[in-house]
Amino acid sequence: MPGPRGTVIVVGAGIAGLSTAWALERRGFQVSVFEQGPIPNPRATSYDDHRITRHAYGAHEGYAYLMPEAFAVYDRMFKETGTDHFDRSKVIYFLREEVGWYEPTVRSLTRMGSGFRDIPLTEVGERFPMVQTEGLTRAVETDEGGMLFPIRILTDLVIHLGNRGVRFHADSRVEEVDPEAGRVVANGREYRADHVVIAAGAWVNTLTPLLADTVVASRQAVMYLAPPPELARAWAAAPVLIDMGVDSGTYTLPPRRGTRLKIGDHVFTRAGDADGDRLATDDDVARLESAARLGYRDFDRYQVLERKICFYTVTRDDSERFAVRPWGRRAWVVSACSGHGFKLGPLVGDSVAAAIAGERAAEETIAKLAGLLDLAAPVPAPAA
Ligand SMILES: Cc1cc2nc3c(=O)[nH]c(=O)nc-3n(C[C@H](O)[C@H](O)[C@H](O)COP(=O)(O)OP(=O)(O)OC[C@H]3O[C@@H](n4cnc5c(N)ncnc54)[C@H](O)[C@@H]3O)c2cc1C
Repeated sequence: MPGPRGTVIVVGAGIAGLSTAWALERRGFQVSVFEQGPIPNPRATSYDDHRITRHAYGAHEGYAYLMPEAFAVYDRMFKETGTDHFDRSKVIYFLREEVGWYEPTVRSLTRMGSGFRDIPLTEVGERFPMVQTEGLTRAVETDEGGMLFPIRILTDLVIHLGNRGVRFHADSRVEEVDPEAGRVVANGREYRADHVVIAAGAWVNTLTPLLADTVVASRQAVMYLAPPPELARAWAAAPVLIDMGVDSGTYTLPPRRGTRLKIGDHVFTRAGDADGDRLATDDDVARLESAARLGYRDFDRYQVLERKICFYTVTRDDSERFAVRPWGRRAWVVSACSGHGFKLGPLVGDSVAAAIAGERAAEETIAKLAGLLDLAAPVPAPAA
């Protein structure tokens, strides 16, 4: 039976697709989710132990102003699915060179009333014994942020949505989408709905030409580590650490709630094939390892537990804007670009659902999610 508001096919069961399904179902739509692999799929970008969320966004100020609402949508989702998979912590930024991050961050955090302060450099060594203090020019502590636990979030969402009548089609690769007719073909069979949402992550360009000029898949490496034993206690209590240095730039998630210490970098390869091999090579991690040696003391004494390859879409230019657009009469395409798609996934899903439900104009939705908010306007209040 179609829902009273109509039917929607969502392609992709990552955070973007499942969040869109959640936001549509709670608005009264009958939703079907098509996923090329198992649900959730370990090859999805969203499938990982943890992801960072935060308010400080440097030059991407438009995104900073979305964060209070992004946190509020997650809160609502956790209330409905039953478990809060958010570990709140400070986020500490270490600056070594001028990278244009500090000034816009101070401006946006001040406007949002989000707490932050400099940490005297003389205190860094004691508070963060793992950090290489040589060459530091500034350390900034921000209050709003922490870690989300994606595998648990995806799993809870799947259980919740299944309980509410969402239909899941696992191992169903969508081969074709007709955005005018609301028709998709999966495993050679045809399905129709009033709307189709493509949330295919790094595979988006295989299903639509709409974003081909805008986004490209990017092969990224992360490493899971066991720290030297004498640093284990410091790491267990550490907040999220982000090194903003040009050569030393990394982000590090401490071991928490049964997850391992993880380090990655925010340098896009803009290369690779999400369907190709995922064995991490020495080349894949070379830049990350050399950055980590600059940012952390004794990095060579950390034991590598896993080198993992994953893919995300990233804009061909450096804007890192989310590309979310209507396609034809009946489709929307969602591409959560860069390393920010998990924290903003539910907000993206909720916004697209609001546009499909006619609560908000398409143009407004596109501009908002691209972080193109009027920077002089008041910061949007979190949704009730
Ligand atoms: C190393 C790394 C670190 C990151 N760190 C952070 C972070 O700290 N904070 C943060 O917010 N974000 C982070 N991100 C980004 C974030 O994880 C992604 O932006 C987000 O998970 C993307 O979600 P998605 O749903 O768009 O894509 P995915 O999770 O990839 O989901 C897309 C799904 O679509 C399915 N699919 C594709 N094509 C088809 C088809 N034809 N038919 C059926 N199904 C199909 C796929 O199998 C997949 O399951 C990071 C990403 C990486 C790679």
